[in-house]
Amino acid sequence: MSRYLKLSGLEPLIVTSESNFINVGERTNVTGSRRFLRLIKEENYAEALEVARNQVEGGAQILDVNMDEGMLDGVHAMVTFLNLIASEPDIARIPIMIDSSKWEIIEAGLQVAQGKCVVNSISLKEGEETFIHQAKLIKRYGAATIVMAFDEKGQADTYERRIEICERSYRILVDVVKFAPEDIIFDPNIFPVATGMEEHRKNAIDFFKATKWIRTNLPYASVSGGVSNVSFSFRGNNAVREAMHSAFLYHAIQHGMNMGIVNPAMLEVYDDISKDLLEHVEDVLLDRRDDATERLLDFAETVKGIKKEDATKQLAWREKELQDRITHSLVKGLDSFIEEDVEEARQTVVKPIQVIEGHLMTGMNVVGDLFGSGKMFLPQVVKSARVMKKAVAYLQPYIEESKDSNVSSAGKILMATVKGDVHDIGKNIVSVVLGCNNYEIVDLGVMVPPEKIIEVAKKEEVDVIGLSGLITPSLDEMVYLANEMEKEDMNIPLLIGGATTSKAHTAVKIAPKYGNSVVHVNDASRAVTVVGNLLQENNKIFKDQLRSEYDKFRDQFLNRTKQKNYVPLEKARENKFKIDWNTTEIVEPNTLGIQVIESLDLKVLLDYIDWSPFFRSWDLHGKFPNILTDEIVGKQASELYEDAKVLLAKVLDQRLLKAKAVFGLFPANATEDDIEVYDVEGNHSTTFLTLRQQLKKKEGVPNIALADFIVPKTTGKQDYVGCFCVTAGFGTEKLAADFEKQNDDYNSIMIKALADRLAEAFAEYLHKEVRTKHWGYAASENLSNEELIKETYKGIRPAPGYPACPDHLEKNTIWELLQVEERIGVKLTESLAMWPAASVSGYYFGNPEAKYFGLGKIKEDQLKNYRTRRGISLEEAKKWLSPIIAD
Ligand code: SAH
Repeated sequence: MSRYLKLSGLEPLIVTSESNFINVGERTNVTGSRRFLRLIKEENYAEALEVARNQVEGGAQILDVNMDEGMLDGVHAMVTFLNLIASEPDIARIPIMIDSSKWEIIEAGLQVAQGKCVVNSISLKEGEETFIHQAKLIKRYGAATIVMAFDEKGQADTYERRIEICERSYRILVDVVKFAPEDIIFDPNIFPVATGMEEHRKNAIDFFKATKWIRTNLPYASVSGGVSNVSFSFRGNNAVREAMHSAFLYHAIQHGMNMGIVNPAMLEVYDDISKDLLEHVEDVLLDRRDDATERLLDFAETVKGIKKEDATKQLAWREKELQDRITHSLVKGLDSFIEEDVEEARQTVVKPIQVIEGHLMTGMNVVGDLFGSGKMFLPQVVKSARVMKKAVAYLQPYIEESKDSNVSSAGKILMATVKGDVHDIGKNIVSVVLGCNNYEIVDLGVMVPPEKIIEVAKKEEVDVIGLSGLITPSLDEMVYLANEMEKEDMNIPLLIGGATTSKAHTAVKIAPKYGNSVVHVNDASRAVTVVGNLLQENNKIFKDQLRSEYDKFRDQFLNRTKQKNYVPLEKARENKFKIDWNTTEIVEPNTLGIQVIESLDLKVLLDYIDWSPFFRSWDLHGKFPNILTDEIVGKQASELYEDAKVLLAKVLDQRLLKAKAVFGLFPANATEDDIEVYDVEGNHSTTFLTLRQQLKKKEGVPNIALADFIVPKTTGKQDYVGCFCVTAGFGTEKLAADFEKQNDDYNSIMIKALADRLAEAFAEYLHKEVRTKHWGYAASENLSNEELIKETYKGIRPAPGYPACPDHLEKNTIWELLQVEERIGVKLTESLAMWPAASVSGYYFGNPEAKYFGLGKIKEDQLKNYRTRRGISLEEAKKWLSPIIAD
């Protein structure tokens, strides 16, 4: 009997010495694919199976499945997914690779996977005992295994370490465990080359040599690896990466690598790589010259921009049929030809409105389908909408002339940001996306009073109302509105969205107030599905399901919160966060009192921008800058980033936005949970009220209030505190309105998102100036932007309305103390949202032990204590603190 690695799904896979390279599909991996992660998180297993099916159809011969993510129940996800695969014969055809760093997930997978699968992976990392134990179990389950070149000392990173670990692993497996040697697949670690580090120069060549050694000296064992890692330093330059992967594979296979993970889209045909490029790449891989890395880096610059297809090919779509061209423009978001094509379409119809109902809707349906199935991303859809609007604007005069009635829409939706709230990025995105799906949107804008929402909803006979809000007082507005709608006997569904809204709040506080459906929808693609279901003809089943889903959710939520234990305020105070004030150094600020920055050059802020939240606001999730090269969203993210930079450059050059700030540093002392603030002469000027955690804590864990970070008055020592407000928002509204006039929602949303980024960057920049200069307790600090974003510095700047200090009324105190409105013009709305929206305010705490925390909920005793300190009625205190009062 020949000793070959034999695996199987429903069909066998036999890896002989004549076999071609075995390609492992890896898109079903939550750590490597954001899309797959999202699908699994949403338990959208139907789509997740499609990912697997695409891999099989694309030629994968083994399917790698990985569910290792902190927020996932990995065992559950692995078992569910493998069971589902088992009932899909076209997927289950090929063997499974159960990929996890957690043994319990691997074992759970082994128990349900059918056929003969591969474990990915085991190693000597935790010593021989664990290794032997796991290998024995794998043998009993009848699987093969990948063995990583890893031992107690760490990962093998030289040729010698690779062969040492692989040989030792092999001997243990074969001699001790009696593991079939053909069931062993070594992964001798593919590491990046051309990183500029001397010790990485031999990464590829050591892998090749180790592969050859394994295949010669460890009989019947296979060698595998993840290829894309080798080109890690060239992220963003696909031409070089593709060439590098192909050249690497070419040599690795020659040395005996017989399987691995390769993204076929990131592979150039070896023979098609230009001679020049190949020479430079191989110089690096084979470490042929001392200057190989520099030479490839220089050369890489020259191949960066070269596109595979040339310009003429790019315009080939212009030769297509009319409808195809219109669809192409819409899907690609291209507006250069749309008017021309729409005019051509108009000539072919009787009534101009038929172009909208026919040609344009046909194209938008394609957009909707692509978005719905995850093949198109939010920024693209917003660009499609821009093309659509341009086309409709072109047709408008003709439609008016022919006195056509309105276009028939799928339904009419009222959208509004509630009273007292000014934030509308999310709302606008949802509106645009719904608009793309043929809904007519009645957008009432921001700070819309409830009476107006109800009045317009009735007058316009809308089919759905969508409410949005970002700050916590808006939650109460939504509850109020639901109640009013019920009183008015309204009978249309209510959608709830925005940053502080949640399914829990919707289920617990809003839904019970209103007889029709109330749904929490926080992303644009789901909004389309939900509205579609709500408005379909036989919607009763859907609505009943919704109602019972929310009822169930509410019961579970309330049961869970009821089980929480709280301690009386007195007890919580005894358990405060203790700082040894005898040993803590207190630094007196270099400049006490209030300072104003009238107008800051925005260019200063560029280095302080945290881009990740910018992408998040467009539903692209991931960390900047890695997101730009992410395999799934990278292309989208890069395009969005380019567009953002263009607009940002314009804003900076023409000074279209204005940034201002006011901040102050003051003497202060804590008295109980209050922070008394003194003026420069030492007179008591105002008091910051802080709230204290009341949840019962484990032994040794404190019940914190921000006041704990300030020296108590009783010590006789003088401490300090600060507060600030920054804005980058002046000018945003006008710019956004101008864009909207040009039917350019894309840039209208973009400018708001950018203004938000600049405001946060300003807060970051000013905080640094305060730490290093005005207060000066960290004069010698020298942190990179990355470190700033991670907030690794000493001291914090908690913001009212955020978890440590959810009391928005504190903004009134800050506004009075700093005279914010008088000095820089930032206003507070009746719900205490800041206007302009792109503003940030907060306190400064300088103590090195100060840290962010979440207050959690408070009990009746603290509420009463608080309202006395604040000097307001219990009713009013309840109103402002409602989201944090324990039920
Ligand atoms: N770099 C991010 C920062 C925004 S959120 C961006 O550009 O969007 C971080 C800020 O929120 C902190 O600086 C602080 O002002 C506030 N914050 C975070 N956690 C908080 C908490 N638990 N309590 C109070 N404020 C908090």
